[in-house]
Amino acid sequence: MIRNTLTKALVTSLAVATTSINTVNAAEQGAHVHGYAQLTVAMENTELHLEFSVPSESVVGFEYKATSEAELIRVKAAQKLLSNPDKLATFAEGNCQLINSEIDVSAVLPEDKHADEHGHNNHNNHKHEDEHHNENKHSSTHSEILVSYQFKCQNVSEVTNFDVHVFKYFERLQQIQTRWITDRKQGAKTLTANEASFQLK
Ligand SMILES: [Zn+2]
Repeated sequence: MIRNTLTKALVTSLAVATTSINTVNAAEQGAHVHGYAQLTVAMENTELHLEFSVPSESVVGFEYKATSEAELIRVKAAQKLLSNPDKLATFAEGNCQLINSEIDVSAVLPEDKHADEHGHNNHNNHKHEDEHHNENKHSSTHSEILVSYQFKCQNVSEVTNFDVHVFKYFERLQQIQTRWITDRKQGAKTLTANEASFQLK
């Protein structure tokens, strides 16, 4: 009887503890919080993957498809900057070469209007699509910018030290929850502008 009560109390307190941990770690677990980004480093065989997910707000200051020229310029600038992996993070060792990268700013980049201006046969279809998109332009939906880099390395196991530079370029960015996983180790670290390096250990 006593044991049952104790067990029940323990289970209840564990549940409460878990709930508050979940709240505190919302950003760490990938929830959308402005100023908080996620960086994942994964190594597999000779490949090194970096994946960076950041609220659009923290990069360009809004999360809808750019409408003004000024907004469009910010999106294009961010896209260009992030197309250079060295702007996100650098690592010295490993003799790695970038073999693939994806910079997904589609959440904040409007569809190419030039397609309509050239007047193709299916112009009406384009127009209809544009009207449909316009309805969602200022919806309150949050959005992310997603970046992924894939490197091929001669000595992937030598890659241990990372310096993250992206805080310099996006001043709204406050924290990056960083996780890494290799065939030998895994870990995590919260990065800030003042503590923007991590070691795989
Ligand atoms: Zn948001």
